[in-house]
Amino acid sequence: HLRRNIEAHAAHEHQFTMSSSEQTFIAIKPDGVQRGLIGPIISRFESRGFKLVAIKLTVPTKEHLEKHYEDLSSKPFFPGLIAYMGSGPVCAMVWEGRDAVKTGRVLLGATNPAASAPGTIRGDYAIDVGRNVCHGSDAVESAKKEIALWFKPEEVQSWKAAQFDWIYE
Ligand code: ADP
Repeated sequence: HLRRNIEAHAAHEHQFTMSSSEQTFIAIKPDGVQRGLIGPIISRFESRGFKLVAIKLTVPTKEHLEKHYEDLSSKPFFPGLIAYMGSGPVCAMVWEGRDAVKTGRVLLGATNPAASAPGTIRGDYAIDVGRNVCHGSDAVESAKKEIALWFKPEEVQSWKAAQFDWIYE
């Protein structure tokens, strides 16, 4: 199912070749949802100029999360991470724009909120690395994998924002 999704997303590959069409997977974790931070977090991406192309509220299964975090399976915090991420609704999103992956990580701040600068999401809203409010893809390749894992191709919208020509020269 994952491979089929990756292939279907790849059919829209031309979108990634335009620099303003890079996509990243951003998720508001259960603590962010419970703390009423969906609005403020979406607001930061919107006001920066990024375009929302997919969004859903979902309680991910253990199997889904083990796939999402498979690179971390040997870490001591892995079981706690899976339990935390599956403890309630997650707001899963795809955001699009120039350097969306890299700039998305800048908006999020460092993994450990103790090292996150004020003005970043984690730097403004979090204290503990195990409750750091949000997720963002760390590379274009992992973004593609994560988008395919969390969304069906038809759940990702292609649309031109009215403000496009005022965001990009
Ligand atoms: P990021 O989410 O910034 O890409 P990682 O991929 O390294 O960071 O880790 C994934 C998630 O695992 C982090 O966002 C955080 O919620 C959790 N995590 C990372 N390191 C720790 C830790 N030392 N203790 C508890 N949770 C951690």
